[in-house]
Amino acid sequence: MDMTTGAQGLTADDIVRFGPDPESVFRTNLAAVESRIAHACARAGRERASVRLLPITKTVPAHVLRLAYHAGIHDFGENKIQEAIGKREILHDLPIAWSIVGHLQTNKVKYLTRFAREFHALDSMRLAELLNSRLEREDRTLDVYVQVNTSGEESKFGLHPDALPSFVDCLDQFPRLRPRGLMTLALFSDDMTRVRPCFALLRRLRDQVAKRNPALVELSMGMTGDFEAAIEEGADVVRVGQAIFGKRPTPDGHYWPDFPKA
Ligand SMILES: *Cc1c(COP(=O)(O)O)cnc(C)c1O
Repeated sequence: MDMTTGAQGLTADDIVRFGPDPESVFRTNLAAVESRIAHACARAGRERASVRLLPITKTVPAHVLRLAYHAGIHDFGENKIQEAIGKREILHDLPIAWSIVGHLQTNKVKYLTRFAREFHALDSMRLAELLNSRLEREDRTLDVYVQVNTSGEESKFGLHPDALPSFVDCLDQFPRLRPRGLMTLALFSDDMTRVRPCFALLRRLRDQVAKRNPALVELSMGMTGDFEAAIEEGADVVRVGQAIFGKRPTPDGHYWPDFPKA
C-alpha cells in the first residue's frame, strides 16, 4: 500500500490537505501568524517577546511534522497523549519539545511524564498526585498550567473558578510540578464579545491566585479563531494549530465534547 509520492514521502491525501510543498506553506503561515501576534501586541502596548507561540500539531501526520520542523517549528503541542506518543516514536531523532494541552486520563499519566515538557490541562487533585509521584520516580519536573472552565459550559474540562483558590493552595504538596499559570478554552464562537469575557475572567483569576502562589503567573489562552483577542486580554502563551497547519479534516467534537460552535 505505497501511496507515497516524491522525495518527501507525501501521500495523495497529504498533498490534498497540505499542498505539494508543506514546508514552504508552513513557513508562510508561520510568518503570517507571527505578524498577527506582533500587531496584537502592538495594539495592546505589549512587547512581542511577552507572548509565546505554542504550535498545536494535532492531526498533522508525523512525516508532515518533520517538514514543519524543517520550517522552524520545534515546539509541538498535542491534545491527545496517544497521538503524541506515536508521533514522538517516528520523530525521535529530532529534538522536539512536546507539550500536552488536552485532558489527561489518570491511567495515561505514565506516558506523559516520559517525555512531555509541559502539561496545560491540570484539572484535578488526583491527577496532580499521580503526576507528582510518577515524576518522582523519573526524577524530573513538569511545567503545568491549571485548566479553568471560564465559559460555564458544563461539557468543558477545567476547574470551576470557585474551586481554583483551594486547588492552588494544595499545589505546594507536589514539588515535582512546576506551576506556570492558568489555561482556558474560551467559548467557541465567532462573536468576540462573547469570547473576550472568558479571557478577561482567566486574567482576573490569575491576579487573585498569584497572591496565593506567585509561580502562577502565565495565561495560556487563545487559539486560531481568537488568539489576537487573547493577546489583548493578556495571554502569555497562545496555542495555535489551524492558522499554521491549515484546516483540520476531523471534526473538533473528537477533541472537545461541546462542538459545534455556540
Ligand atoms: C486544537 C487545540 C488548540 C488549537 O486550536 P486551533 O483552532 O487549531 O488553533 C488549542 N488548544 C487546545 C487545547 C487544542 O486542543
